[in-house]
Amino acid sequence: MTTHDLRLIAREAPAPTDPVFEARHLIDGEWHMSTGTFTRESPAHGTLVTRAALGTKADTEAAITAARTAFDDGSWSELSGKERAAVLSKTADLIERDIDRIARLETLESGKPISQAKAEIEIAADLWRYSAALARTSVGETQNALGRDMLGMTLKEPIGVVSLITPWNFPFLIVSQKLPYALAAGCTCVVKPSELTSATTVVLGELLMEAGLPAGVLNIVLGYGMPVGEVMTSDPRVDMVSFTGSTGVGRAIVAATAPTLKKVALELGGKNPQVVFPDADLDAAADAIIFGIYFNAGECCNSGSRIIVHKDVVAPLTEKLTALSRKVAFGDPLHPDTQVGAIISDAHLEKIDGYVKGAVEDGAALALGGDTLPVAGLPGKFYAPTLVSGVTPDMAIATEEVFGPVLSILSFENFEEALGLVNGTEYGLSAGVWSQDMDTCLKFARHAQAGTVWTNTWMDGFAELPFGGVKQSGLGRELGRQAIEDYQEVKTVTMRIGATSRAPWVAG
Ligand code: NDP
Repeated sequence: MTTHDLRLIAREAPAPTDPVFEARHLIDGEWHMSTGTFTRESPAHGTLVTRAALGTKADTEAAITAARTAFDDGSWSELSGKERAAVLSKTADLIERDIDRIARLETLESGKPISQAKAEIEIAADLWRYSAALARTSVGETQNALGRDMLGMTLKEPIGVVSLITPWNFPFLIVSQKLPYALAAGCTCVVKPSELTSATTVVLGELLMEAGLPAGVLNIVLGYGMPVGEVMTSDPRVDMVSFTGSTGVGRAIVAATAPTLKKVALELGGKNPQVVFPDADLDAAADAIIFGIYFNAGECCNSGSRIIVHKDVVAPLTEKLTALSRKVAFGDPLHPDTQVGAIISDAHLEKIDGYVKGAVEDGAALALGGDTLPVAGLPGKFYAPTLVSGVTPDMAIATEEVFGPVLSILSFENFEEALGLVNGTEYGLSAGVWSQDMDTCLKFARHAQAGTVWTNTWMDGFAELPFGGVKQSGLGRELGRQAIEDYQEVKTVTMRIGATSRAPWVAG
């Protein structure tokens, strides 16, 4: 494609020469290699970043044994909330101390811009701090209205051993949306990062050991879904699985956990719509839509990957989006000005391109982009900012997760039609509305089938607010005050006090 009208950031400095990160499993407080290894290259620069131990069934079972033993001996689960909070807060401090090192590894493995990686690590540190507060404030209830001689109470107890399985798009942030909450509750954990992005999860393990987490409470096994993920989701000694990733693997995990009836929390895909009404502030909407589609190269469960625009404003909005797209800086993720970096893998680049080519074959038009993007000095995998107009609901690109910098533009004539399009996919993660009429926004918020609704904004997130999906976007909620509850069981204690007023069951 022609690239002269886009903002491209070529590689200016020499290729990175960082030492190769040697990633090992963390099992029962010790770092272990395996006989086999696997490697990860920077998707932007092509240089070797990580050599990691290749986890086996035996490694995974050893990690589960360590987590089970550590849970059952009470060395973490029976500490006070104050003691657990001290470790979580210390971890937040250590993450902030090492932010540059973690962000650089994250960028090299994932291809995301360095400025964005730093921002994500800062947000992650905040989640560790927020979880520390939850460790001290999670309480049960008492029930004092059960009758003269009865008192009831509920105890919140840690659920036990939890398997956490994370993807490659936000490696440090997503593990930080799960692990501190599980630890705050008193659980012990086995973590498997994506094999594409192992390094920063290993660094997090180092920091937790430094912060004083007892051996066996956190175990990390590196490797692939098969066999590591499979053992983590089927072993009877595991009580719960929390997973973020594709809906397909989410379904496989539910099946794997069924024989032992584990609790399952799933954060899956989305095909997140934003509806733009004719009275919207089009400049504000355009900027947020651009952010929503290009942030993390669109490799984001919350990607605002389709907009549904009133027919009266489709043309002016598309024009604004095209002009803004040309100003977004695509290129070397290590350059401080870069806003969009490399695509995670060749296979994923092909998948993105396949969706775009398929839409064009089906009759959609390209307002911009639609091809891979050469960036001077970089061998890596980049995809052009792409706007696909004239998309109709029957096209795959209208309903399936592309996970790339590709926006689908659909149009509507009235509220009901727009709502039908919003709710017309199997997903229900997030949805947005743009209108200056509060009634329109609230009506939309009440009827959109989504775990999160944004009105006149997109992808604002806070530690204080829950996040998760409905329909096939997932089960359960992360973040917010109740995030710790996912990792807790409720035990009811029912007490009779003093002499009974109940007549004996056995006739005297
Ligand atoms: P997957 O869902 O395949 O992988 C996510 C995690 O699950 C990885 O750690 C993976 O291991 C692991 N895994 C794979 N198979 C199993 C299994 N049977 N049991 C337990 N764990 C398993 O995502 P991909 O990386 O393959 O991405 C594919 C698509 O998923 C993307 O194109 C995107 O559409 C979507 N996706 C959605 C995400 C989200 O945030 N909702 C995040 C990432 C992807 P490994 O890959 O190391 O083998």
